[in-house]
Amino acid sequence: MEVREIEGLGPAERAALFDRDAGVESVREDVRGIVDRVRDEGDVAVREFCREFDGVEVGNLDVTDAAAAAHEDADPELLAAIRDAADNVREFHERQRPDDWREDFGGRELGRRFRPLDSVGVYVPGGAAAYPSSALMGIVPATVAGVDHVVVTTPPAEELNPATLAAIHEAGADAVYSIGGAQAVAAVAYGTETVTPVQKVVGPGNRWVTAAKAEVRGDVDIDFLAGPSEVLVLADETAEPGYVAADLLAQAEHDDHASVVAVTDDPALATAVVEELDARLPEMARRETAAAALENDASGVFLARSMSEAVLFAEEYAAEHLSIQAADDEALLDRIDSAGSVFLGPYTPVAAGDYASGTNHVLPTGGEAKRFGGLSVETFLRSTTVQRLDRDALDSLSGTITTLAEAEGLYGHADSVRRRFE
Ligand code: NAD
Repeated sequence: MEVREIEGLGPAERAALFDRDAGVESVREDVRGIVDRVRDEGDVAVREFCREFDGVEVGNLDVTDAAAAAHEDADPELLAAIRDAADNVREFHERQRPDDWREDFGGRELGRRFRPLDSVGVYVPGGAAAYPSSALMGIVPATVAGVDHVVVTTPPAEELNPATLAAIHEAGADAVYSIGGAQAVAAVAYGTETVTPVQKVVGPGNRWVTAAKAEVRGDVDIDFLAGPSEVLVLADETAEPGYVAADLLAQAEHDDHASVVAVTDDPALATAVVEELDARLPEMARRETAAAALENDASGVFLARSMSEAVLFAEEYAAEHLSIQAADDEALLDRIDSAGSVFLGPYTPVAAGDYASGTNHVLPTGGEAKRFGGLSVETFLRSTTVQRLDRDALDSLSGTITTLAEAEGLYGHADSVRRRFE
């Protein structure tokens, strides 16, 4: 890899960096076929797709008891780590729970109340690797919100991953199904003979999962369409190149399509980061995946003419994970509006948030952090506004209401106010 100067980037390079997407278009048509068949044929289609895409003949699709058993039998050290992470995720998400409120605005008593959704489906990925951490990130906020029925789906296997099952149980799932991919999203969205349908489907997954969420959106709610993992490290001359490189490689090992970026105004740091990447990559267990990610058009080590230019680059990139490793990290953060999750200082690797610090790791990718944030307690709530006006308040507002109503030609609206004073 070579250091690239931001100043010299052409339109095509900028487009590759800043116009990223979830990459689901190539599978949209196939996924539509899968979703339609599950909606029309239920369990029969689900079983057929488990056979076709996972190579597994699934006996009982419902593995809720197996998750409880895996929790019971889990290695104590693993279970302690799952509990520690779950406790931190719960603690952080409990802080997010909004309170109902009512306030008197001079005879207009207005307020908001929040209620949990009745049922949600959490997709826990598990094709190429196991993701017990994603089980915690999806399920715990739903339980904190108070969702009554939390349904989990995770891909089938000859032997389901015990750590994932244990985490699903620890997090508090009510039902667990051994279904993966687009067929899982369709099953929880529309229901089958075995699976009860839910109101909202959340969670990360590969292209088929994400395309299926796009497909069912409208019939059920979804969180958002998340693509491959991304990190952008904003670093000044005080950053430790080894830490910067380690954070890039950590995200790079997720996925061939992951995007990993470092931006700095210090040429020596940029060169040192590239040297660290070159030195460490060959030693990695997942070096082929990490190497592919480093080669992506949206990856690279970039040199800015100033930290102001570096900040503008980070803001335009709107990364899923933004790590700031600089002397005055708070001042740089002040100038950032768009990032999924921010990691400040040398002792805050992105991996801390991936697993255990307590923040959620299901975050917007592809620049979507410009428009919305990651999974949170609010994802699982509906809000309702409430109002009560006293006679004087309505009287003083009546001219405004009737004037606007009549301007819209809605005389019935105006009449509904006047009638109260006849
Ligand atoms: P997955 O569970 O997302 O997908 C596995 C399923 O894909 C299988 O069950 C199968 O049904 C389906 N599938 C595979 N090939 C198919 C094909 N040719 N046609 C139709 N369906 C097919 O697991 P995965 O594949 O390991 O991917 C997990 C993804 O989730 C990765 O991209 C990973 O980076 C991402 N992830 C993201 C986060 C996050 O928070 N952003 C967390 C964990 C994982």
